[in-house]
Amino acid sequence: MNSLIRLTTTALLCGLMSSLAYAGSGAVKDPAGVAPNRYAYYPGTEALKRDEIRVIACGTGMPAARRGEAATCWLVELGNGDKFFFDLGTGSMANVAALMIPYDYLDKVFLTHLHTDHWGDLNALWAGGWTAGRTQALKVWGPSGATPEMGTKAAIDGFMKTYRWDYVTRLQKLSAIPGKIEVTEFDYRGENKIVYDRRGVKIRSFPAIHSGDGSISYVLEWKGYKLVFGGDTLPNKWVIKYAKDADFVVHECFHLPEQMVEWYNQAPPVALYVATQIHTSPQAFGKIMSTIKPRHAVAYHFFNEESTRYAIYRGVREIYNGPLSMATDMMVWNITKKGIRERMAVSPDDAWAVAGAKPPPMGKPGQVPGQLSKEMKAGTLDVSEAEGRMVQEYMKKYKLDPKMFKKGKK
Ligand SMILES: [Zn+2]
Ligand SMILES: [Zn+2]
Repeated sequence: MNSLIRLTTTALLCGLMSSLAYAGSGAVKDPAGVAPNRYAYYPGTEALKRDEIRVIACGTGMPAARRGEAATCWLVELGNGDKFFFDLGTGSMANVAALMIPYDYLDKVFLTHLHTDHWGDLNALWAGGWTAGRTQALKVWGPSGATPEMGTKAAIDGFMKTYRWDYVTRLQKLSAIPGKIEVTEFDYRGENKIVYDRRGVKIRSFPAIHSGDGSISYVLEWKGYKLVFGGDTLPNKWVIKYAKDADFVVHECFHLPEQMVEWYNQAPPVALYVATQIHTSPQAFGKIMSTIKPRHAVAYHFFNEESTRYAIYRGVREIYNGPLSMATDMMVWNITKKGIRERMAVSPDDAWAVAGAKPPPMGKPGQVPGQLSKEMKAGTLDVSEAEGRMVQEYMKKYKLDPKMFKKGKK
């Protein structure tokens, strides 16, 4: 994704929306100087103040994720060092990687519901984080369903079954601990019930009304702030009740039905049903925000581009005239008591995983049997002459015992 182009086009629109300008401020008083207040966020360059919150949109689009816009994923970073994902939709992990946050700090995921556009990239965080430095188990919170097999716990059990080959083969060398997923399932019918309470952070859930029982929304409370991350839903009374007067409310604001017909290839009756009976229309989003009056509203769950955003924006503005972001991937908000600042991240496409404070753990030798049969091993080509020098130099550099590594001996 070209963040700078996106920055420019979004800036034109955002100028109409709120006082959160993209323009830098302050003068560059020396030709060799730097801009005092940058309008872009460069990941990894800004420490949060102790009572500051940063939210990053790592996915804002649709189930048929595209390169420029992944499916739903919000990363919340608190000034106390805590980080939380709310949803982890298809394609979003490429955006997460571009933030260059050590995987060891990204171990908490809160799912609103089990549509793939809200958890389809869990595999990438699970296995990618495991191979690239996470030292602890991944922790997932999510709602129950109408029956046990429709809930988050069953989904994660099934996930581990599906990825058994991945899990067992990696266990030959990697520590088993970061390969585990700890699940906390809670009742989707809970109304403003606490589902997480640690280090001064409370996370509550309340029901959402989506395609089936088991979609929920989250409220995060910390240091007097209230942030809401809505699960896919029809307009519902619980949002009005529990998101009232929040600082920051992320809520779906779906495509207009004709956009779903023209560009998403849905039949007209299906598109109308999906856009108004499964999701929240722009006008309904406007109604919700004009009722709850958050300090800042965030609209998402649409492909945000020239052909779509103006009609969606006009739909919202028919009803709501408060502070608003039309979210797209890599949009960043800094939230303080003084104000909420929206920027775009400028991030590399080729970021490597960054190390955290703890070294990556080693697996216990023999924790699983070797996974290659004699028949497969017998097919190994002898390349010791070609790579021997490289391997020797490597072992010398890292002071490894040559007996530890013998080709074909796993
Ligand atoms: Zn959904
Ligand atoms: Zn969705």
